[in-house]
Amino acid sequence: MSVFSAVKEGAPIEVFALTKAYQDDSYENKVNLSVGAYRTEKGVPWVLPVVWHAEKVLVADETLNKEYLPVLGLEKFSAAATKMLLGDDSQAILENRAFGIQTLSGTGSLRVAAEFLARQLGYRTYYVSVPTWENHNLVFKNGGFLEGKTYRYWDANRRGLDIEGMLDDLRSAPENAVIILHSCAHNPTGCDPTQEQWKLIADVMEDRKLFPILDCAYQGFASGDLDKDAWAVRYFASRGFEFLCCQSFAKNFGLYNERIGNLTCVVKNPDVVKNVKSQLTLIVRGMYSNPPSHGARIVAYVLTDSQLFEEWKGCIRIMASRVIEMRKSLREALEKLGTPGTWEHITSQIGMFSYTGLNEQQSLHMTNNYHIYMLKSGRINMCGLNPNNIDYVAKAIYETVT
Ligand code: PMP
Repeated sequence: MSVFSAVKEGAPIEVFALTKAYQDDSYENKVNLSVGAYRTEKGVPWVLPVVWHAEKVLVADETLNKEYLPVLGLEKFSAAATKMLLGDDSQAILENRAFGIQTLSGTGSLRVAAEFLARQLGYRTYYVSVPTWENHNLVFKNGGFLEGKTYRYWDANRRGLDIEGMLDDLRSAPENAVIILHSCAHNPTGCDPTQEQWKLIADVMEDRKLFPILDCAYQGFASGDLDKDAWAVRYFASRGFEFLCCQSFAKNFGLYNERIGNLTCVVKNPDVVKNVKSQLTLIVRGMYSNPPSHGARIVAYVLTDSQLFEEWKGCIRIMASRVIEMRKSLREALEKLGTPGTWEHITSQIGMFSYTGLNEQQSLHMTNNYHIYMLKSGRINMCGLNPNNIDYVAKAIYETVT
């Protein structure tokens, strides 16, 4: 008998199970709205032209080699990523109170952050929004947190943010609880706080001594503008908070499988930076020793070359405007059909994802009867829509809810 026979099968991961089911489905008009990645109008993945350009230059550069990067990654990359997040005129950077370390995409950044907070600061409790990106829980539990709690976020009736519920829940959180906030383009609802609401959130966090982790997986992808999408992070910095921010370059650079991310730390006093970095070094050393270089080199090159930087911003605008276009078209198609309910939320939400308001049963009905793959929470990826399938999807929603 195998020593492994005691191992029980783990729960499937919904988004990957759906992608597999989609691939195995032979139906001609099948649609995948579950995947968390950009798709072009033709429904295919997109390698950003600016990434190709950077890669060609890097491949031809004979001074580069395959030596290990430092444990905390390529410094040129993390300095540029931190600046892109906090802004060119960031006080925290100017005062040496902010720095970044290269991580394995956004997930790796969250994991390093969790381990650091649990081990070094002894933090025990984290809070996530209801709903949230489901991996937050696994990452924080595995990262050493003992207790996961939730704060209210999505109001299903209003199909918008439940700000009163959120503030109430934050008010009753214990001191030093870690609050995971989505800095823009909330996944899965596509619904962000307004600037006024962010101010109220910050007031409560300051008052209750809660620790912010800003999860920044979609900078540029929400509005098409890097600065606008960083507003909440910069606001927390301007208020004098100490916080961690987990950046991902998967979506805005289309570098999903390169696993390139940055963990930005903003602290009050530059004197603590050296020690904090040394502990982060030990965490990374004991976890994966050092990160890969390819994605870091691409991002560093693009962010520090003014021409490529402009080209990249153009790519972001293309992606963000396609999403906005699809939102408009879906809403129009649903309203034209006279689909029961209101569909204004489809265009008021931002980012890649939309919480349609379809319940679990309806979402399963879409998959089982129309071969339209979407999460059972009703979340769809707007990039899975294109001019060829939008009418089909709208009609399926219409038939499902009537
Ligand atoms: N946070 C959120 C909210 C996300 O949606 C994602 C991507 N799905 C991530 C973090 C991290 O993704 P990655 O590790 O691919 O950068």
